[in-house]
Amino acid sequence: MTREQSYSQAFENQKNALMFKKATFEAAIQKLSKENSAFAEINKKLSCLGAQLAITAISGDSTALAKMQDEMTALSRERSQILKSEGIADIEYACSACRDTGYINGKICNCIHESAKEILIESLSASLPLDSCRFENFDLNYYPTKTDDGVNPRKYMTGIFKMCREYVINFDPQKSESLLFMGNTGLGKTHLTLSIVSELLRRGFNVIYGAAYNLFGEMESEHFDRHTNTAYNAAIECDLLVIDDLGSEFVSPYIQSLFYNIINTRDLSGRPTVINTNLTMGEIATRYTPRVASRLVKYNGEIFIGNDIRQLKAIEKSKI
Ligand SMILES: [Zn+2]
Repeated sequence: MTREQSYSQAFENQKNALMFKKATFEAAIQKLSKENSAFAEINKKLSCLGAQLAITAISGDSTALAKMQDEMTALSRERSQILKSEGIADIEYACSACRDTGYINGKICNCIHESAKEILIESLSASLPLDSCRFENFDLNYYPTKTDDGVNPRKYMTGIFKMCREYVINFDPQKSESLLFMGNTGLGKTHLTLSIVSELLRRGFNVIYGAAYNLFGEMESEHFDRHTNTAYNAAIECDLLVIDDLGSEFVSPYIQSLFYNIINTRDLSGRPTVINTNLTMGEIATRYTPRVASRLVKYNGEIFIGNDIRQLKAIEKSKI
């Protein structure tokens, strides 16, 4: 699901919920009008007065207008009392700010922003482990405190973990730096990346995440088969683009130039990108051309170290 689709869905949900409330209310009014003649009479008088009021307002007779308005207020009060005694509540809006229209002064109301965000996260969670890959469950205990060459991976990885948390807290789609996570598989690159994605989505940022083979594959088939550029444009314009597992995709000259154009355009417009890869900088230069590598060396590069967590978790599981 795209961000646009989540907004359409949010508006649609709000419209349907309001329509249902209105229909329920109207049905209750209709029923009461049939059963209660006094209530039916008030309704009739109110609608007559409403029509007369418009004519009187045009005529400019302010004394008559005031009298009619008083009469209407009294009738409305009487009507509300009957409704209350019958246990029929007025339509209760889910959002009092926009009265469930979704707009305030022509601007999208916060209730729609919130609802769209939830819809998007829910839809993405169906295909991404957004709940299991969060900062809260990133376990630094999997990293050893000592290696043969005297390095402390846990201390080192704690530094990267803290940097990622701060990155999210201070995130600014116009100012934040781009990140490049390198290192072997199973060292937590995807987990930390998804933690960033998950937090920023919850904060309402427009984040696009995808494994390189999915992202590039979709853009390639859009370009050649459907002659559109929707996925490409979305990747260029989003607040944060996250490319996971760079190097896992099939590389063609088209993919090489596509990848360069994406990162170059985002760099020029000051938009950050986060990339995960098992490749070294030398391999990136060979695979995607040196001009791509020359862009990526400007990213904040972090090399993940430690033991393969997936292997450690598999061993733990097999012991249970
Ligand atoms: Zn609202």
